Parts: sequence; C-alpha cells; structure tokens
Amino acid sequence: MHSRNPYTIPPDFRELAQAYPPLQPCLISYSGGSSIDFQNEVSQRRLTEALLHRDFGISLDLPLNRLCPPVPNRLNYVLWVEDLLRATRLDEGSPAHGLDIGTGASAIYPLLSCKLNPYWSFVATDVDELSLTTARSNIERNGLAGRIRVFQTTPEARIFAPLHKDPSAKADFTMCNPPFYSSPEDVAASAGAKEFEPIAVCTGADVEMITPGGESSFVCRMVDESVELGERCRWYTSMLGKMSSLKQVIGVIRDHGIENYGITEFVQGSTRRWAVVWSFSDFRLPDTVARITNPQLQSLMPPKNTLRQPFLAQEVASTLTIILASVDGLRVEKAEVEAARFMIYAAKNTWSRAARRKNKQDAQAAEAVSAPNLVCSLEWTDMFLECQWIRGKDRSLFEGFASHIFRKVSEFTEHH
Ligand code: SAH
Repeated sequence: MHSRNPYTIPPDFRELAQAYPPLQPCLISYSGGSSIDFQNEVSQRRLTEALLHRDFGISLDLPLNRLCPPVPNRLNYVLWVEDLLRATRLDEGSPAHGLDIGTGASAIYPLLSCKLNPYWSFVATDVDELSLTTARSNIERNGLAGRIRVFQTTPEARIFAPLHKDPSAKADFTMCNPPFYSSPEDVAASAGAKEFEPIAVCTGADVEMITPGGESSFVCRMVDESVELGERCRWYTSMLGKMSSLKQVIGVIRDHGIENYGITEFVQGSTRRWAVVWSFSDFRLPDTVARITNPQLQSLMPPKNTLRQPFLAQEVASTLTIILASVDGLRVEKAEVEAARFMIYAAKNTWSRAARRKNKQDAQAAEAVSAPNLVCSLEWTDMFLECQWIRGKDRSLFEGFASHIFRKVSEFTEHH
C-alpha cells in the first residue's frame, strides 16, 4: 500500500457504521470486534459508500449491475499520480488536468482526485451508456460538474479521443483502469485462478470488463497513440492487473524507444497490481516513484534516476560547496541555509578533461541558466550523497555529472 494510504490497517467497522448508518445491517460482530462479510455484494457496496462518505465526503450511487470500486486500491493509484506530479514541481497548490480513460459508473478516479486536490480538473471517458449517465449524476451529486467533464466515446474510436479531437487540448496526466479480460471465458478462468479482486462479489458487466485482446492490448494501443500525441500529455499512466501484461506493455514502450518510464506495484492482501507511467517530456522521476524492488520484475525496470554514494564528512554543506564551485560552467543554487541540498543546472558537459581545456566558464554558466540540458539535485541524507535527475533528455550527461562529483567527493575525503 502507498505510504499515504490510510487503509493500511483495516477500519474499525463499528465506528464506520456509526458514521454511515446504512452499513449497520452488514456488521458481523465477534468477540474481538466487528467486520463485514467480504463475500457479500451488498456489504461490499455499503463499505465502499461508507469509506467514501466518511473519509472523502463523497456520495455515490451505483447501479447493481456495474462495478463497485474498492476504495483502498483506487486510492493507491491516485496517491501515486500525486507523487508523479509533485516530483515534477506540480505540488498540491498547482492546477493539474487529467484524462481518465474508462471512468465507469462511479467516476471514482476523478471524484477521489478532485476531492483530494482542489485545483485538479478532469475529462472522463467511457463507452457504456449506463456508466456514462451514472457517472454524470455522481459527479453532479458531489458538486464537481464544473471540474469533471464526461466524454462519450466508442470502442472503435481512438482511446485518447479527447486529445486527438482537439489539437489544442493538453493534459498533465492520463489514468486508466482498463477492461481486464479478452473474453467471457477469460473472465471465468481468472475467477477460478483468483487472479483479481473477487469479481463474483463486485459484479461488473461484460462491457466493463472485456476488451479485444484484454488489458495488455488496450494499454499497448495507448502507448502507440501516445507516440503521436507526444508532449501534449506529460505523464501517460495505466493500471495493469496481470504480470504478463506488464511485460508486454514495457516491451512496447521500449520498442518505441521511450526510455522515460516507470513502474509501481500496489499490494493489498493477496492482490498484486501494477501501474506504468511513460513520458516524452524531459521531466525525470525519482526512483522511489518509478522503480520497485520486486525481484521478479528487475529486468523490466527503467534505468536509475537517483544515484547514491556513501559520504561521511564533518562539514558536508561547505565541502560540497567547494567541490561544486571547482566545476566550471555550472549554475549552483543552495536550497536552504542549513541543509546540504543543492540544485544544479548545466548546459553541457563542462567537467570532463576535454571540456575543461576549452574553459569559457562565464559564457557556459550563463548558458546553464538560460538553456539547461541538465537539472539535478545533490543532497546529503542518511550518510549518503544522492544525485537526483530532475530534467533533461541526455542520460549520459546526468550519469557523467554524477560520477564526476562522486569521484571528486571520494578524492576530497581521502585527502582530508
Ligand atoms: N475506472 C473505473 C472503471 C474501470 S472498468 C474503476 O476503476 O472502477 C473499465 C471501464 O472502461 C468500463 O467502464 C468500460 O465501459 C470502459 N471502457 C471500455 N472500453 C473503453 C474505451 N475504448 N474507451 C473508454 N472507456 C472504455
């Protein structure tokens, strides 16, 4: 679970039922407390409504024959999208515009996201008439019609239709919980294998759950379309329910030569899911957001954007200041008076031996500010020096800079 997800520990169901009385009849009491029957569809629905009501002030009305979204899982994805935006300087106070593909009757992602982030807005697409009508009324019922626009599309249309249709349209991010299955047989097989959340309980209609080729071909289509849209969206993302789909989607991302991507994992009980992000922008994500440690998936991971080296010294901030000042052609900003944290801008490699001979420092430093090809931070935390890539398209420039600084730091430590 995401570290900001409050549902890491199960809720106190009795308290929850007090906050949302319709949950009361679903309570099962036992000596140590109370719970609900997770195999019971009505109980599941009341639980989703109760959590949304108590914790987010969201009121939801869902038709019985449409998916009932489990809140902890949906929240995980929203929190990770917040991480993506925060890592690239769009903090809580900044406006951000998202596109939710297949929003469902609940419009759960736009509703949760907009409640948590007062300056976010959405376009939410779907192909299913009943889901679209219900999504609209759920959005209105929560007073969010001004910030969430529903867009009706068709299975044959391009997935990012709202962006393709209007050449001036842009987005900061896209989200998607794709239809998982390729056929009704696939649905039945997965139910048997307990691959996904209990679908027998949270009944979804075929239209919600089935797409030709299953989730992997749906998300691969998104990757293909994104190549054409490029930087009109900063972060393209999607959830994935199968490890095999993750492999296929990363394969297609790499086939397109997209090197700026990331993977995260959502674990809840025995259910494991993934989300992918990719981008054509020069914004770079920290490894904490874009890489996971799951040993089965290491071959799929993107290259590291956070490089670290142990560093033990007395006067860390002043040592780093001296070292950074010895590199020509950089623009260095110290983040805070006390902390050992620096922002570094460079226009080109000015630190290797060949570059140093040319030595036109003033011009280079000016260029580093006006046209930085590398923006990174250097920070000392927990006895480690951490070089974090923030912006730039040239990986070798970032890696070269980090290894130059790390080498200088080692030399300095040896001599003092
Ligand atoms: N976002 C919701 C619903 C996910 S189910 C949730 O997380 O709970 C997948 C949704 O995608 C369904 O509502 C289905 O109708 C919709 N869908 C299927 N094909 C689509 C397409 N081509 N474009 C947009 N939505 C589609």
